[in-house]
Amino acid sequence: MLGPAEIRALAERLGVRPTKTLGQNFLHDPNTIRRIVRTAGIGPDDVVLEVGPGLGSLTLGLLGAAAGVVAVEIDPVLAAALPDTVADRLPSRSARLAVLTADAMTVSLAELTDAAQRVRAPHPAAVAADVAALPTVSTDASAPAAVSADASAEPRGAATAPAAAGHAGGGTPATAGPTALVANLPYNVAVPVVLHLLETVPTLRTGLVMVQAEVADRLAAPPGSRTYGVPSAKAAWYSAVTKAGAVPRAVFWPVPNVDSGLVRLERRDPPVGASRKDTFAVVDAAFAQRRKTLRAALAGWAGGAPQAEAALRTAGVDPSARGETVDITTFARIAAAQNQRGR
Ligand code: SAM
Repeated sequence: MLGPAEIRALAERLGVRPTKTLGQNFLHDPNTIRRIVRTAGIGPDDVVLEVGPGLGSLTLGLLGAAAGVVAVEIDPVLAAALPDTVADRLPSRSARLAVLTADAMTVSLAELTDAAQRVRAPHPAAVAADVAALPTVSTDASAPAAVSADASAEPRGAATAPAAAGHAGGGTPATAGPTALVANLPYNVAVPVVLHLLETVPTLRTGLVMVQAEVADRLAAPPGSRTYGVPSAKAAWYSAVTKAGAVPRAVFWPVPNVDSGLVRLERRDPPVGASRKDTFAVVDAAFAQRRKTLRAALAGWAGGAPQAEAALRTAGVDPSARGETVDITTFARIAAAQNQRGR
């Protein structure tokens, strides 16, 4: 892992001057990194999707625990440097890293799945051992050995290695994508990135993200609480969301002017009865005018206050209630009721 002196030295060597626009505050505390890896609950079967690996301190910790890491970094200088950082410090795991130079808001499921398969693919040395174990069909002793038998000699440059044809490793389905999201997220895009990835990467079963403390409160807020709102309701569509502790600002370089918090996500089945799009339209309308009753707040969405009241009553919701008391299952019921009435 990278401590404070190493983080600064690496940034200096790469000519990296951290920018606020990309939320570049790099972790330099090994204890915090160990805590994140432990709390994420990832195991040797997981492929981690890490958004914004930066200089790689968290990436190194994750590579020690998971089957592999798919790292999505928008900054091309940081993305280009990451494979060498890992090859220098953790050479035995460098084939388990794939780096995509991309925006986490637009990276495609196909790219992520392809990269996940690459990092899961059997180790070349293991393939060599399998091949060596096959019955010999030729006695040509002059034929060169195809692959080194040194099991510790994983190749550099894993990020650009082609996928091993026909191998997905460990019985994994050929379409398997990343299974766990772990990220110290850029604060200005944390909520959209989390929602976007939960929506587009169905193989993600769990997540542990570090976000600004207030955003952690909002994501994990239950209905009826002061901080419950659009992020809480939408995140609950995909997963159970819980806070997993505070992180002091001193563990970053440069030191940010906000505190951070960890948020844990556990994928669950979405509510039934209405689509995500229709349900999120109700959520957006309900919170656009947070202090109004649902009857008034949903009037524009339903085509009038009487229509809103009728949909709410069909869904079994008190029209004088406010959106901040309604959970995501009930929002889906309101959307379903309106759909029924529209038929
Ligand atoms: N994970 C590193 C760590 O903990 O030290 C760096 C975390 S830093 C808070 C956020 C990282 O996200 C930066 O490396 C930044 O360049 C990257 N980033 C910012 N916006 C991004 C986006 N839309 N997609 C992918 N990476 C992004």
